[in-house]
Amino acid sequence: MTTSIDLLVHGASGRMGQRLLALSGEFARLHLVAAVARGTAGLVVPEGVAIPAMRLSEAPAFRLLIDFSLPEAFDPALALAVQRRAAFVSGTTGLSLDQLKALEAASRQIPVLWSANFSLGVAVLSDLVERAARALPGWDLDIVESHHVHKKDAPSGTALALGASAKAGGADPRYASLRAGDIVGEHWLQFVGQGERVELAHRATSRDIFARGALAVGEWLAGQPPGHYTMRDWVAAKARD
Ligand code: NAD
Repeated sequence: MTTSIDLLVHGASGRMGQRLLALSGEFARLHLVAAVARGTAGLVVPEGVAIPAMRLSEAPAFRLLIDFSLPEAFDPALALAVQRRAAFVSGTTGLSLDQLKALEAASRQIPVLWSANFSLGVAVLSDLVERAARALPGWDLDIVESHHVHKKDAPSGTALALGASAKAGGADPRYASLRAGDIVGEHWLQFVGQGERVELAHRATSRDIFARGALAVGEWLAGQPPGHYTMRDWVAAKARD
């Protein structure tokens, strides 16, 4: 199917937003129609990408909204996607319980997919963590995450998601967070028993893995019926292709 999908990027001036704008051209079906950020003064459109910068209220028609912003910017973006009956992909972390409930409610009208981490490697790690937790009952589990100094929320959304997988397998994880320099994102886990230890780790060296993951997921999600999807749904759908 070659139908073009009009794309709005929300949080476009941010570290992630800039990579989404720059890499969207790699996806044949995606057609960037708008880039939205707080105000427009700080918006730098990457070289070779010609799209108008605008406010959310001025957005033209679109079928897919990809949001990598901040929790305080999330609600109007989700509301607009619902109003336009567009697919909604979000990687914004630090969302409140009310915002997660709003996402659930929106999924009755539009396809939504929120993930703390859009990397394929982390989707696989999440599966490994759940299986290890199930196989190692009673072992201690520590989840240590490191990110750049600008990251505001801690523990990271990915650490919490890995923790949720561990809990599903019966473990009771403890968390530690480090903020230093320009670290893109590292998650290291240790299952510690009596006289032995299992370590699992994922290291991201480029933000592009998250941007490419979100664009690929968005291209797929725009063709799905309303519902609340996860990265595992996407991985399973790709495995069936
Ligand atoms: P950033 O601070 O560089 O960018 C934030 C963006 O949000 C900017 O464009 C800013 O203008 C916009 N914004 C802020 N307040 C706004 C408002 N009220 N209205 C409209 N726009 C507003 O942040 P970043 O490093 O690009 O990260 C963005 C989010 O994505 C964070 O929550 C981060 O934790 C998350 N993140 C997720 C993944 C993942 O794979 N899920 C990966 C990296 C980062």
